[in-house]
Amino acid sequence: MQLVFATNNLNKIKEVQSLIPSNIKLLSLKDIGCFEDVPETQETIEGNATQKAEYIKAHYGYDCFADDTGLEVEALNGAPGVYSARYAGKQRDAHDNMNKILENLKNKPYREARFKTVVALHLNNKLKTFTGICEGAITKTKQGEGGFGYDPIFKPKGFNKTFAEMDLSLKNKIGHRGKAITKLVDFLNSIEPKI
Ligand code: IMP
Repeated sequence: MQLVFATNNLNKIKEVQSLIPSNIKLLSLKDIGCFEDVPETQETIEGNATQKAEYIKAHYGYDCFADDTGLEVEALNGAPGVYSARYAGKQRDAHDNMNKILENLKNKPYREARFKTVVALHLNNKLKTFTGICEGAITKTKQGEGGFGYDPIFKPKGFNKTFAEMDLSLKNKIGHRGKAITKLVDFLNSIEPKI
């Protein structure tokens, strides 16, 4: 079976590739000749993941899945949430985004936060979504060089290091995207054990 993963984010492809069994051939947007920005203009994480998967099916005809992720900070009433990519502005810069969160949390005692990923699968003309959540807290400073996005300021619950200080295999095991992709893989195996 082959499935398009509707993203241009190489970090996401790296994470997801290691979780997808080798009997599923992953195609990238580049592989199917999609070079435009896939629209993500909805007001929820679920909405954006679904919009991206539907766009690829409608314009390129491929079965596919897409993910959308948001960081929800409790003391900021769930912000940046669906606006995580452009929290500090249109430039979508990870350091600007992290600096804005650290600044906004400066005098706040509660630093609880969660990552939420929704994966939308468009398969055989049916749409299904899978959600993965990782609870944790925002650190006071950036820690670690690995990962991407908000990883240097997010410490998952029960661990004394940020995602940016962890091996990819550990982040995948306990992280939001890993959990959502594991549900996707379980579903694919359940509908077609021989894929
Ligand atoms: P999107 O899912 O690509 O729209 O990501 C939204 C925002 O969350 C972007 O700023 C990403 O860099 C960030 N992001 C997505 N996944 C992760 C992650 O696993 N760790 C840290 N930041 C992430």
